[in-house]
Amino acid sequence: MTDATSDCLFCRILRGEIPAKKVYEDEYVFAFEDINPQAPTHVLVVPKKHFAGLKEAGAGDAELIGRCQLAAAQIARDRNIEQGYRTVLNVGPGAGQSVFHLHVHLLGGRHLSWPPG
Ligand code: AMP
Ligand code: ZN
Repeated sequence: MTDATSDCLFCRILRGEIPAKKVYEDEYVFAFEDINPQAPTHVLVVPKKHFAGLKEAGAGDAELIGRCQLAAAQIARDRNIEQGYRTVLNVGPGAGQSVFHLHVHLLGGRHLSWPPG
């Protein structure tokens, strides 16, 4: 049987089918190093529940999205990058979303210009 999670890259990482460098885990979220880092810290925080992205999220996902953001803040604290970091949700292919399992990027450890490209 196939469903949205069976060939989802991040669900496969959550199931341990694809290796990832774990940074943080709790009951709700999992965080790991981005394979193609765009900054000295580039961590992805994903909810353990599959949903495709912010567009597809519902009110019932609010707490999980908040938990992803708070996990990113804790990782930033642990890594002493609180002078300036960014959490990013790319929403849709036009904004660079390439994996359709919601994920928060945590980027830091270098100067981050504004606006982003
Ligand atoms: P986005 O482009 O916002 O959908 O982000 C997807 C991110 O996943 C990119 O930054 C990729 O570098 C990252 N990525 C893709 N495959 C893997 C993987 N196997 N392990 C860790 N990060 C990955
Ligand atoms: Zn998934």
